[in-house]
Amino acid sequence: VCALEPTAKVSDACASYADLDTLNDRLHPYVRNLANNTDFFSYYRLNLYNKECPFWDDENGLCGNIACAVTTLENEEDVPKIWRAEELSKLEGPRAQHPGRKQQQERQRPLLDQLGAGVGESCVVEYDDECDDRDYCVPEDETAGGKGDYVSLANNPERFTGYAGEGAHQVWEAIYRENCFSKDPVSDHSVGVPGLSAPQPALSQNQAQAAMDFKQVMRAHDREKAVKSGTAEALDDSENTCLEKRVFYRIISGMHASISTHLCYDYLNQTTGQWGPNLQCYKERLHEYPERISNLYFNYALVLRAVGKLREYVPDYTFCTGDPQQDKKTKEMITRLASAIPAGPHIFDESVMFQDDQMENGISLKEDFRNRFRNVSRIMDCVGCDKCRLWGKIQTNGFGTALKVLFEFGNGHAGEEKPLLRRTELVALINTLDKISSAMKALERFRGMLAAELNIA
Ligand code: FAD
Repeated sequence: VCALEPTAKVSDACASYADLDTLNDRLHPYVRNLANNTDFFSYYRLNLYNKECPFWDDENGLCGNIACAVTTLENEEDVPKIWRAEELSKLEGPRAQHPGRKQQQERQRPLLDQLGAGVGESCVVEYDDECDDRDYCVPEDETAGGKGDYVSLANNPERFTGYAGEGAHQVWEAIYRENCFSKDPVSDHSVGVPGLSAPQPALSQNQAQAAMDFKQVMRAHDREKAVKSGTAEALDDSENTCLEKRVFYRIISGMHASISTHLCYDYLNQTTGQWGPNLQCYKERLHEYPERISNLYFNYALVLRAVGKLREYVPDYTFCTGDPQQDKKTKEMITRLASAIPAGPHIFDESVMFQDDQMENGISLKEDFRNRFRNVSRIMDCVGCDKCRLWGKIQTNGFGTALKVLFEFGNGHAGEEKPLLRRTELVALINTLDKISSAMKALERFRGMLAAELNIA
């Protein structure tokens, strides 16, 4: 039964803020522990440096205006080196080299023999860079020649980096632009989505403003597109947006809100040199925009549902880090987590999506959705700060994996196909859940700080 509060705006997900907060109180320690205290989940392999931004340089690229890059650099040079984004966003801690295929095979073979397993998916996927039709992300290394590096996630927390200005805005703009589906089917997909038929509370001024901001951005993009293509087709009324497009937007906006929460919570006071929560940052970027927070909760529901679905899959998964005892423990931990997530569509009901998936110009809505999400993952190569790029890539891969689990695989019933995930996908999924779950905790503390401030006043 869907416990939807009429005042909550997690309406595309089938749960209220209060439900999700309660669930998060219970699950947060498991998620933290798994993401931070196991080798399997705290090292990530990616190609952080060798991929070029595939968008900015083409003739229609967003940064045809050279001044934006120059301005950023000029501004950078105005600040002391220590505070420069470049310095702040550097990766720290060990960056192990990829062990290499032969070395890994040697390390894994005895373990596999010992476990009596065949060639475990999680052991060979380190070399599997093939793109699967069902992927919502470009697999790491697909386009680059190199194998990438392993990065210690624990040593590179997502926090304030100073990356801002024209460059960062350009990336966000490009990401939101992916939400302009070629054709917005005006559908009644919303029928049957718990909560959507419930009366919506009147928007507060801030909510209305946030909605307007986005609509204006979207209309500007659509108009530009329509002018370029010479058609008015792109000028669809965004009020009649279909469920899938709204879900796409909420995922992006919720991810953006989570990033903002982390950078506000682990903020560098540039005057004192102290790291800590910045209440003003929270007020300006989050508190004033309940829609953004709602989208973050929406993401929690979506990712949690996907992790819950892994309960059937994890027992067959081979965790091979080379330490059988730790691998056994890791498997127990993720099994416990997945099993603690309520089964059934109480949290998020993905079955209502892509119901009326007709072909449009030879492409289905689901394919369009998938391709656009892949593009978002490609845009991450345009992020001009190492640490932001790292977490941006992990989180898009995490959401891509969640979407793949939700929309490409069954519900674990006998005879149904079980998801085959690459190690990087599983690691990204759990770390993305950890980021959202920690952001919800940080928001709770910010609300407490705000209440204390108001009491003092
Ligand atoms: P921005 O956050 O850049 O937002 C731009 C515009 O988008 C806003 O003006 C608003 O209209 C709209 N907007 C903002 N939030 C939302 C939302 N949730 N939903 C919908 N619309 C919204 N900085 C760090 O310090 N640490 C990081 O780890 C980090 N990671 C990043 C990862 C990526 C992928 C990107 C693109 C940027 C990252 N940044 C990071 C930069 C950071 O996100 C901001 O861009 C920067 O702090 C400047 O913030 P801003 O206030 O100008 O607005």
